[in-house]
Amino acid sequence: MLRRIEIVTDDITRLAVDAIVNAANESLLGGGGVDGAIHRAAGPKLLEECRALGGCPTGEARITNGYRLPARHVIHTVGPVWRGGTAGEERLLRSAYRQSLMLATSHRCETVAFPAISTGVYGYPKPQAAQAAVSEILAYLGCAELPRTVLLCAFDEATTVLYRETLKNTG
Ligand code: ADP
Repeated sequence: MLRRIEIVTDDITRLAVDAIVNAANESLLGGGGVDGAIHRAAGPKLLEECRALGGCPTGEARITNGYRLPARHVIHTVGPVWRGGTAGEERLLRSAYRQSLMLATSHRCETVAFPAISTGVYGYPKPQAAQAAVSEILAYLGCAELPRTVLLCAFDEATTVLYRETLKNTG
């Protein structure tokens, strides 16, 4: 079967793809982690466009230009803060992936790259987050032609191994 999910170990701001996904917060006004890195690399015009969007609820997504990034678009999504697992975290994380993919489809993106949403300061346990991400992406790709390829962008080797294992054991 054609492999439509690929794993890369990289800084997501370096990827020349149709869209990279940003693990943003509800304000969309920037933050630390991958959000800060994306805003630094894209330049101040990104913040200007984000400001005009007026925020984004958890589990939803918004799309902007990529400005100075090699990626054409940035899809900003807000994953849940981990509160122990009984506050709808998995549903919200899956929704963040799905809504990002829907925007990628409607903007005719062939390749889209995701960071490990919610697994930094938002504290979502990495194995559970990888499981939800892989299963939601596979379900979406099963009934959509675009995006053709989804990159799971791991920022460290441990996350790469985790994604590899999760992909092997899912679907
Ligand atoms: P959240 O608030 O959703 O938890 P973070 O930015 O704190 O978001 O972390 C999300 C994930 O992104 C973490 O696993 C972190 O290691 C990873 N990350 C941080 N910087 C980058 C980057 N430049 N490229 C790809 N992934 C990154």
